[in-house]
Amino acid sequence: MQCQTVLPGTECTFMSKNGCVFPGGSCQNIVEDCEGCEKIVESSIGKVCSVYPAPAKKWANGICNFATHAKIEIKVEDVKVNPLKASKKASGGKKK
Ligand code: SF4
Repeated sequence: MQCQTVLPGTECTFMSKNGCVFPGGSCQNIVEDCEGCEKIVESSIGKVCSVYPAPAKKWANGICNFATHAKIEIKVEDVKVNPLKASKKASGGKKK
């Protein structure tokens, strides 16, 4: 249904015949960590997120997985492989 609270006319899964069913009855404003994200939209209560109604929760346990301005960095450390052991492993460790 279309939002009838802070983003009138925007399709939203939380809007029902009885109004917004999200806790608090409305989207919540973005948090400082959201600044720079492309999902931010202006609403009647200020800046809100277009894909998640409670931005603070998205940042509670690390980087928001919807963020366009911040990505999770996965560091792959150099793993040194002993060529002899790798060869043995590949051949199933069988001696000829
Ligand atoms: S997608 Fe995440 S970082 Fe971007 S505005 Fe929404 S909650 Fe904030």
